[in-house]
Amino acid sequence: PTSSTIVQLLLIRNFLSTAVYRTMASHIVGYPRMGPKRELKFALESFWDGKSSAEDLQKVAADLRSSIWKQMSGVGIKYIPSNTFSYYDQVLDTTAMLGAVPSRYNWNGGEIGFDTYFSMARGNASVPAMEMTKWFDTNYHFIVPELGPDVQFSYASHKAVTEYKEAKALGVDTVPVFVGPVSYLLLSKPAKGVEKTFDLLSLLDKILPIYKEVIAELKEAGATWIQFDEATLVKDLEGYQLEAFTKAYSELESACSGLNVIVATYFADVPAEAFKTLTSLPGVAGFTFDLIRGEKTLELIKSSFPSGKYLFAGVVDGRNIWANDLAGSLTVLESLEGIVGKDKLVVSTSCSLLHTAVDLINETKLDDEIKSWLAFAAQKVVEVNALAKALAGHKDEAYFSANAAAQASRKSSPRVTNESVQKAAAALRGSDHRRATNVSARLDAQQKKLNLPILPTTTIGSFPQTIELRRVRREYKAKKISEEEYVKAIKEEIFKVVQLQEELDIDVLVHGEPERNDMVEYFGEQLSGFAFTANGWVQSYGSRCVKPPIIYGDVSRPKAMTVFWSSMAQEMTKRPMKGMLTGPVTILNWSFVRNDQPRFETCYQIALAIKDEVEDLEKAGITVIQIDEAALREGLPLRKAEHAFYLDWAVHSFRITNVGVADTTQIHTHMCYSNFNDIIHSIINMDADVITIENSRSDEKLLSVFREGVKYGAGIGPGVYDIHSPRIPSMEEIADRVNKMLAVLETNILWVNPDCGLKTRKYGEVKPALLNMVTAAKKLRAEL
Ligand code: GLN
Ligand code: ZN
Repeated sequence: PTSSTIVQLLLIRNFLSTAVYRTMASHIVGYPRMGPKRELKFALESFWDGKSSAEDLQKVAADLRSSIWKQMSGVGIKYIPSNTFSYYDQVLDTTAMLGAVPSRYNWNGGEIGFDTYFSMARGNASVPAMEMTKWFDTNYHFIVPELGPDVQFSYASHKAVTEYKEAKALGVDTVPVFVGPVSYLLLSKPAKGVEKTFDLLSLLDKILPIYKEVIAELKEAGATWIQFDEATLVKDLEGYQLEAFTKAYSELESACSGLNVIVATYFADVPAEAFKTLTSLPGVAGFTFDLIRGEKTLELIKSSFPSGKYLFAGVVDGRNIWANDLAGSLTVLESLEGIVGKDKLVVSTSCSLLHTAVDLINETKLDDEIKSWLAFAAQKVVEVNALAKALAGHKDEAYFSANAAAQASRKSSPRVTNESVQKAAAALRGSDHRRATNVSARLDAQQKKLNLPILPTTTIGSFPQTIELRRVRREYKAKKISEEEYVKAIKEEIFKVVQLQEELDIDVLVHGEPERNDMVEYFGEQLSGFAFTANGWVQSYGSRCVKPPIIYGDVSRPKAMTVFWSSMAQEMTKRPMKGMLTGPVTILNWSFVRNDQPRFETCYQIALAIKDEVEDLEKAGITVIQIDEAALREGLPLRKAEHAFYLDWAVHSFRITNVGVADTTQIHTHMCYSNFNDIIHSIINMDADVITIENSRSDEKLLSVFREGVKYGAGIGPGVYDIHSPRIPSMEEIADRVNKMLAVLETNILWVNPDCGLKTRKYGEVKPALLNMVTAAKKLRAEL
């Protein structure tokens, strides 16, 4: 061939490969921000402690963003998100963007800086933080916007545009991601004073102009795609709420012209009505769907996906750590290709990867077999890309067959199956498992033994985790100190905590949990069927991360887990010492759970293990045992139709743990977060003797249910102060809170305790706060 034909052939080949490249469409809904080794956490905390500057923090953040963008573009992802980074929370970022700062933070307008931003998130010396609540059914928490008729919206944070430009300067053209306007309002709460009357959606007209300003700036900066996360579409919505979506996107249509708009949904099926609304939104180019939790959505797509629109098919699970079943996903994708057309199908993640661990590469301690079953965020990005390539005719055979081999090994590995556990768990279904004596008779029997004052005081379990304590645990784990030295150090810590509580005159003591890194990990490490990561952190709120264990096999308890420490602590005091356990539902909800059997089956297995522990504690002379179900509520399915089934097996699992104890053994449970009104009957049905509930950050919403006449015969301790904030509550403030509770609850069932465990606080905060708490209780006792 002549040289000109060669040139022509090369041109044709280039053209073809670009054409092929175009169809290798891959998209990531969002990415974890903390960094592979929690770099952001450490930078934030050091900044908050005044140990580093704002510039230092910004530098760490910029480095993280840059490495994430480069990684995704290096892999070959086509639609790479930006603005999914956050210094605290993406909903708070939206509040900042809209200038919707509650007046108590004394913000004076202009661009919102760290001061105002972090005050809203964490409170400051004079003002408490804004309310925080669970993000859908995840363990991520967002800062709830407080909106009323008087909010003056203004474009007050240019973060999204800055980040877009920042990525662009690095050579990465990104898709800026926003909390969609309707979801933002639906996730907000009405401001104080207008709680009952205010229609949040009435603010749509006021916030859309700000969104338009941002959109205009993004277009100016060169953006061609934009993503609005409207995951509230998967909830049970009313007609008028669905109409708000139509209204919002019609309103944004012209502002978005020239931009390709993606509306993202995730975490569940999109109900048929919502699907209709969503896919008819004007000016929207494509939709993301969670196809891991969305079998019904798949049907809707097959029957009524609009032609000409992009389908971002979320086939790679953003909520779990399991390697994708690539062959299975490819089959789904191929069937979708036939429906939406080859050029309109984009491979995506089921939701933001925020909810999974960051990078498997840092896991040096997991054995190769288990490792082959896993994929963290960085690996999921590769999976998404590999699927997109396979669809485009460039299947990486070696990669696919390694994946198939791993899938097969997970199915057949003897490490996964324990037949006796399976049998025992299966036998539990269908029976009730309830303590024989009713709760008020049990409380009488317990009071005879415990002899507590009215308004007894207690704490939720953990005491501050000092640097020294963490060092001891780390060195023991690394075998740098002997078991003897370790036990001695922990014993000293427990002794200090016990002494402090006696000095403070608290009635029911705790040992402070100094031996625990984390309330789930601690148990998982001692149970079989669990695996642990070194760096598998997932953001929970702000700088706080959790490292969920991985439940890969049938669960059993080889030996007692807490009896040693609890009886040691009990020997140090005459006051009752609470045994402290994490309940089965919480262990389940805060772990990465196997996806090869129903959740309830795994939960029953854990319940049996905890039951053994409860009985061993009782035998060792522990008379008060707290079984934390901090996460019971967050496991609630997003849609009401599925609640009853979940609550049934979850509550049943809890009862199984303590059905075998004597009447005189007092079973406590503790729950985080205060949205309980809708599940109060299930909480009663747990049949615990005492429940402590987080309460103070939501203005005693909790009490309203009792005001409305729900009978609760068991003991109850709605938290009297917020432990998420460094602020020290005054004695008067606490007494005032307790008084409000006394107006609603009977005196003899009320307990006085903080909202939650104290592990994230400092002793400088904890001592005066607890002293004020005990003083308040004593003052009220004297008045009663
Ligand atoms: N017992 C645990 C603690 O105090 C409970 C923590 C929680 O509810 N999240 O740390
Ligand atoms: Zn709690």
